[in-house]
Amino acid sequence: MPSVYLLLVSTLLLIAPERATAFEADVHYGLTYWLALQAGFEPLQAQIIATGDERVDSGDMPYIDLVAMYACLHRDEISARRAGEHHYPSAGKIPGPPETRSVAPNSSAARKAALAAIEAGAGQAQFRLSQLGEGLHVLQDSWSNQGVPSVPQLGDVPSTCDSRLAWGHPETRGGPASHRADLTMYWPEDTVAMAQATYDILKQYPSISGAQRKVRNWDEIRPELDDFIKAPTKTEKARWFAAHGMDDVSFLEGISLPDGAEAFLQKLKARGKRVVLVTNSHPETLAIKDERVALTRYFDACYSSHPFDVPKENPAFWPRFAAREDFTPQRTLFVDDSLAVLECARNYGIGHLRAVRRPDTGAPPQATAGFASINGVAELL
Ligand SMILES: [Zn+2]
Repeated sequence: MPSVYLLLVSTLLLIAPERATAFEADVHYGLTYWLALQAGFEPLQAQIIATGDERVDSGDMPYIDLVAMYACLHRDEISARRAGEHHYPSAGKIPGPPETRSVAPNSSAARKAALAAIEAGAGQAQFRLSQLGEGLHVLQDSWSNQGVPSVPQLGDVPSTCDSRLAWGHPETRGGPASHRADLTMYWPEDTVAMAQATYDILKQYPSISGAQRKVRNWDEIRPELDDFIKAPTKTEKARWFAAHGMDDVSFLEGISLPDGAEAFLQKLKARGKRVVLVTNSHPETLAIKDERVALTRYFDACYSSHPFDVPKENPAFWPRFAAREDFTPQRTLFVDDSLAVLECARNYGIGHLRAVRRPDTGAPPQATAGFASINGVAELL
């Protein structure tokens, strides 16, 4: 970390769109895959199980039952029932008052689908790995969604959702509008219990084509989970998976943990660095974005290039900017996602430059010819 000073672009401040789904792909795909390997499954088998688990949230359309559609804008008992079976396992009936549809972790309703895949027997074992994954999803969500389901509100329109059909994160887990229920770091004991129950089911799965699976002892696995559970950013989660032999962590992109920018900015502040944001966005756009993300509180100053009359990629920008902000170019670290902007900063004499490889997490990484590159600012720590 060479600088006394830092400049950042606004694209780093973008956050993922809202969709509260209970545990996310770090659990449903990543952890499930890793646990399956520890339980002796072959990598390809583990992948089928993890994909079957994850697609309940993200894959085929029949699985995506949005509460707004089945309980609010329309009334659809079949969708509401299916959403319950997938994410809110309960002995209660749909339609029915929320209090009668309480979710209990590891209940028989929660275990039913996974056990059905096991009970099909060894003759079917090769063909039911995906079904096993689906069943594990339900079991896992019985921890994150435990309690009495809440009734979400649609925007400003009060009580248009049918409480006899709706499923939302229980208030005790943060309520319908929060991602708190989804994040392992807030529920360390529940996450361990969820992982252990997952592991027990995986161990019980019949042998495939008579092959013996070599199963690791749970007491060895358990301590390895600590760092997974408390990881506060995507970068930290990715680091855990890399340390456990999983280098492709593209499944983490959609999860609601921050990418690490916030933690990075907090640390810079703690070290007394001056941190400045410079963006080509219009000042009003910046203000609107900040209402959602509230990251500008970590910056000592925020500049839009508009009052300077030229964008950051114009050579005239830097002398004008330097007239406003006092800094030493050689001792400055500058991070940007535009190669044209970086080129211009280099010509002006900025000492330390980093290109962001993946400014848009939905797009493939860009080539960053000639510049040292990073995936996210958290890597700079
Ligand atoms: Zn789910």
